[in-house]
Amino acid sequence: MTRTYPPGSTIGVMGGGQLGRMFAIAARRMGYRVQIFTPEEESPAGQFADLTRIADYNNEAAVRRFARDVDVITFEFENIPAQTVAWCTEDCEVRPAGSILHIAQNRLREKNFLAGADIPVAPFRAVRNARELASAIDQIGRPAILKTAAFGYDGKGQQTITARDDFDEIWSASSADELILEGAIDFDKEVSVIVARTADGTMATFPLCENIHRNHILDITVVPARVADGVEHEAAQLARAIAEKVGLVGLLAVEMFLKRDGQLIVNELAPRPHNSGHWTIEACVTSQFEQQVRAVCGLPLGATDILRPAAMANLLGDVWQRGVPDWARALAGEGVHLHLYGKSEPRPRRKMGHLTAFGANPDEAIARVTHARSALTPSH
Ligand code: AMP
Repeated sequence: MTRTYPPGSTIGVMGGGQLGRMFAIAARRMGYRVQIFTPEEESPAGQFADLTRIADYNNEAAVRRFARDVDVITFEFENIPAQTVAWCTEDCEVRPAGSILHIAQNRLREKNFLAGADIPVAPFRAVRNARELASAIDQIGRPAILKTAAFGYDGKGQQTITARDDFDEIWSASSADELILEGAIDFDKEVSVIVARTADGTMATFPLCENIHRNHILDITVVPARVADGVEHEAAQLARAIAEKVGLVGLLAVEMFLKRDGQLIVNELAPRPHNSGHWTIEACVTSQFEQQVRAVCGLPLGATDILRPAAMANLLGDVWQRGVPDWARALAGEGVHLHLYGKSEPRPRRKMGHLTAFGANPDEAIARVTHARSALTPSH
């Protein structure tokens, strides 16, 4: 249970995206070997791995070969099929455990789990047909948000219900069999906490992140979060309680809404590093990726003190719309750092990279990072 995997061991990562890429960079810097398992040919993570196994998650033989070849397995992507994780677990330790992934993969399971653990969540109801939708709206009221229960992220499969909508129409327009209706929270801010926990129960939380979304996708994260005293502590306590309850070994990001009356409501869990924690690479004593390595491998957790106020701005494929971004102009800004994820096709809404900038305070960090991002577009 409390096995440790020292530098020199091989860490297997399920998933080949940018979180796996930044994890691989941190792990290899610390002397680990990294194997990536992904169906993608040219994956962002594969570019930094010792070895990439390209196969479908349902390819049992390939999954089992991968599990036998590595010392410990972690993941960077939630929607790994449960069966795949089960195959891995037979031959290798998986951290965090598949049970945590199972909760985070489905919004209904997640909300039921949180509500059962007395963690505050938005009012919600399961919806499996037009009749259930009508009664859920009756009980929850409007505005409400209808989300697919599974495979949802970055606002995919979400719909806000405000006017007097026709339930049959909404139902037949939705492609999923199982949905969740949530009361819309009138929040002041969105925040997140990333907590790390080792197998012996030691925990460390990163500073509270303040997140600004655009079109349901994270746009900017700023730290320190501009919130009242006490909010950060309370958010950290919630994240720790959840980590403890699920028996986390690894990292868990907890997204929350901060209501106008100061109450925190948990929206989503992600048992892995998180987009809102990318600033830790430059502005924290330990980055979230190094922390994941430490937590998964049973090393002591690193300090999570913030070094300087910082802001991170996502670079979506949309940035490329008016031609190749002007990197030099953006990097001319003071304290601006560029991260690109090695993706060749800049599709709209696709996360291609991010910028991080420092400032004397959070507002200045936001001003610098947004200025740098606008400087990328040639005609600005
Ligand atoms: P999610 O896919 O659940 O992370 O939702 C993406 C974004 O949609 C969130 O970051 C919020 O900006 C918004 N959102 C989701 N659920 C709610 C809710 N119950 N109330 C208000 N806003 C929400």
